[in-house]
Amino acid sequence: MLFESTIFGPIKSRRLGNSLGVNLLPPQAKICSFDCIYCECGYNFTNKDSHMPTAKEVAQALEQKLCELKSNDEHLDVITFAGNGEPTLHPEFEQVIDDTLRLRDDYFPEAKVSVLSNATLIMKPTVFAALNRIDNNILKLDSAVEETVKLINQPTGHYSVEETIEQLSRFNGNVIIQTLFFSGTFNGVPFDNSSDKELQAWLEALKRIKPKQVMLYSLDRETPAKGLIKATPDILRKIALQVQALGFDTLVTE
Ligand code: SF4
Repeated sequence: MLFESTIFGPIKSRRLGNSLGVNLLPPQAKICSFDCIYCECGYNFTNKDSHMPTAKEVAQALEQKLCELKSNDEHLDVITFAGNGEPTLHPEFEQVIDDTLRLRDDYFPEAKVSVLSNATLIMKPTVFAALNRIDNNILKLDSAVEETVKLINQPTGHYSVEETIEQLSRFNGNVIIQTLFFSGTFNGVPFDNSSDKELQAWLEALKRIKPKQVMLYSLDRETPAKGLIKATPDILRKIALQVQALGFDTLVTE
């Protein structure tokens, strides 16, 4: 499933409410620094016409849509950066965020600004600063075990769990961790990121990161890898209880 425009929706998000989406990636491509085996956009691919919209183009398209929603008296809970890959790969990401915060204040001051990111670029000062300014800085940590991340998220470049946790803790709690729980076998290797060993490492990571919330969910749509097994609502609820016991807020999407 690919998003065919820079601005899409508003759609009813299971986790965020009435959400206007912003896709900073090209419409006919999927570009990410991960290549998750469950990604609902499919595996990474580009074509020769793939180009990202400029910050100016994003701001213009967003303003046009916000203006239209406002004149139709529509309600908006959130402006969400998601789409065909990793939004922080956009070379003008910080500028895009600043423009979005300004437009949000002008048109829907009560709406939140959310970014769904895989956290692979948070070591970049501009990306870190931009994420620190938004309302919902939602960053992925599917596992705190290096081999599991490499198997299920398939980073396309350098990746270290230890470095990622260290960087995540630099937000001083101004971060929401999102984790997708599932199991299966990929390339002949079995995995289950809700196993005891996995949870122990992941909970230790949460203690260091001190997130303001942890979002737990599982598979919802068709996945590029076949035979993946969704974590049951019961599993998600049990994990949530362990997170709550550490003093962190949770949001379970069943
Ligand atoms: S990080 Fe998100 S966009 Fe990137 S491959 Fe994974 S699920 Fe898809």
